[in-house]
Amino acid sequence: MKNYKIVLLSGDGIGPEISEVSKKILLKLSEKLDFNIEIKEELFGGIAYERYGEPAPQKTLDSCKSSDAILLACVGDFKYDSLPREMRPETGLLKLRSELELFANIRPVKIRKSLINSSTLKKEVIKNVDLIVVRELTGGIYFGEPRGVINIENEKRSFNTMTYGTSEIKRITDVAIKIAKKRRNVICSVDKANVLEVSQLWRDTVSEILEKDSEITLNHMYVDNAAMQLIKNPSQFDVILTSNLFGDILSDLSAMLSGSIGMLPSASINNKGPGVYEPVHGSAPDIAGQDLANPIAMALSTAMLFKIGLNEIRASEIIENAIDKVLLKGYRTSDLAGSTSKIISCSEMGEKIINEI
Ligand code: NAD
Repeated sequence: MKNYKIVLLSGDGIGPEISEVSKKILLKLSEKLDFNIEIKEELFGGIAYERYGEPAPQKTLDSCKSSDAILLACVGDFKYDSLPREMRPETGLLKLRSELELFANIRPVKIRKSLINSSTLKKEVIKNVDLIVVRELTGGIYFGEPRGVINIENEKRSFNTMTYGTSEIKRITDVAIKIAKKRRNVICSVDKANVLEVSQLWRDTVSEILEKDSEITLNHMYVDNAAMQLIKNPSQFDVILTSNLFGDILSDLSAMLSGSIGMLPSASINNKGPGVYEPVHGSAPDIAGQDLANPIAMALSTAMLFKIGLNEIRASEIIENAIDKVLLKGYRTSDLAGSTSKIISCSEMGEKIINEI
């Protein structure tokens, strides 16, 4: 029997509440299907800072590196905002991504029929949305050097560097191509080439790679237009290929097409070791500890872990189907609630999903 080692990083805020649901899903599936799951929980984010004085302790990183896949909830709290940058939970996230070389972030956005009325956008606009944002994750302005704050003529000045090399652009483009070939063969590369040299190199490199590929239709879009088009006509997109900063913003924007950021999963992967599977949302300090969080983005991230990380397609489908069944019965956490919904808590939503598995 196969034995999978999963590291679970519950993190901060609503993290422990939504992790509890996914932990039960993992255990239920290992009872039901032909594999064992060994879950190792490690501290990460603000809670790791509290215990060890750093958000991504070596012990946590070592466990992650020797696992088959990592399931991460979310990190952060506004109370850590005044800490030196290297101590902040979000810096731990960047460290994890960079140590595991997770250069590709995949964020699918699909409108579930049962939730079509939960979006703030009109039904006609969103009904056919089925897109994937492929975001470069270990380069660009979040990692570029030099960066810092200096004093010039009695004034503080801060700076970051947005930089990409052709090899970084090529490897993320290759990921987008693989994904597009399993879908509708259309890639929209998003940049700001009218203003930024780094975006011009991005555009030229993507074009050069795709010139040789007759199966894929490539178009380019400036990021400001892409933001507008995602609201105006989101179903035109299949695979959106973009850099770290633009992908961060556009994927949160895309999240709202589906009704709530609490619905969106993601996978951060590379070509070799374990990947990190995590919801797109943050730690939601405003609702933490109140059993109000929507655990579905985390449960769907668990489904992605099975599908992409472990190639256990059936386990992934079982989770997706269980979620659909619960939503079709009208159950909603409060972030998704409409006038006719049966509003339930995070833990109740978890129980309902697990009962359908
Ligand atoms: P957020 O995503 O935590 O919350 C934004 C809004 O969405 C809030 O109103 C919140 O209540 C709601 N929300 C988020 N997830 C939800 C869920 N599962 N169910 C119901 N409602 C949900 O973003 P923020 O408020 O800007 O950031 C809060 C903290 O999270 C900050 O410290 C930030 O740095 C951190 N953060 C972490 C990650 C991550 O761990 N990957 C990502 C983004 C932000």
